[in-house]
Amino acid sequence: MILDGKELSKKIKAQLKLEVETFKNKTGKTPKLAVVLVGDDPASAIYVKNKKNACKFVGITSEVKVLDKSTTQTELESVLSTLNSDKTVNGILLQLPLPNGLNERQALNCIDPQKDVDGLTTVNMGKLLTNEQGLTPCTPTGIMELFNEYNINLDGKHVVVINRSLLVGKPLEQMLLKKNATVTICHSHTKNIASLTKNADIIVTAVGKKNFLTKSMVKKNAIIIDVAIVRDENGICGDADFKNLTKKAEFITPVPGGVGPLTIAMLLKNTIKAFKNQNNLTD
Ligand code: NAP
Repeated sequence: MILDGKELSKKIKAQLKLEVETFKNKTGKTPKLAVVLVGDDPASAIYVKNKKNACKFVGITSEVKVLDKSTTQTELESVLSTLNSDKTVNGILLQLPLPNGLNERQALNCIDPQKDVDGLTTVNMGKLLTNEQGLTPCTPTGIMELFNEYNINLDGKHVVVINRSLLVGKPLEQMLLKKNATVTICHSHTKNIASLTKNADIIVTAVGKKNFLTKSMVKKNAIIIDVAIVRDENGICGDADFKNLTKKAEFITPVPGGVGPLTIAMLLKNTIKAFKNQNNLTD
């Protein structure tokens, strides 16, 4: 069975649209997201355009600040700090990766944690670790929404995550542990990954290599979440050998149409959450 992230993201966006309308009627205010894009990376430009369109759909105001690739660390941090003090801005997203020479961690940590809708500041990462309320990274949050929507119980399940980045693997590990899963994290130094994936009830793969996860690496009726986005001459695909794995897995996410649309939906959700927190609003 296909885990349809596109359909779920449509459902979430429709709910968020209603929520934005309600808040607008109640307060006269509209949530606003500011996106900072440094340089001219074509993939980043596409991601930013998609985020802007998604904001428009649900009624969130968005503003994109495009900075030249020669922008210095001080200039970037000054833009972020201006957005921090702008009361009309509820969420700030720094599009990654930054051009060489800029310090990503230092720049991210300039963002006010209350406006950190990507959940990537050290403060929000720490809150995730300590089970405190905060804004959480969009991709793993979207994966958890998918488990919830399809009633996939994680309690006691063995989940193998092939990725240890701050964007995906590390925050996902915390979210899975909170749901009582047993988590194994794999990365480029892990020996004999197949011996681990073969024992997994659920595999989350985010390597970025076409056909990395093959049929022989998974047990029958496993659940496969493919986070990767690989671009080649035929378009976009993930890590999984989708055609063969659909016959063996109980559930699998397609690429495109799986985790990607949910990542954007979670960005919108986080922006509305930040807006609500900043305006002391409940539902
Ligand atoms: P990343 O930081 O480069 O992480 C890649 C991970 O894969 C690292 O942990 C790396 O290990 C591991 N890896 C690389 N080669 C491996 C191998 N041969 N065996 C086992 N592990 C290996 O990238 P990322 O930002 O996390 O993104 C990962 C993928 O997910 C990319 O394709 C990206 O486009 C996609 N992505 C999709 C979404 C979405 O919304 N769908 C969001 C974010 C990312 P090391 O740590 O040892 O290097």
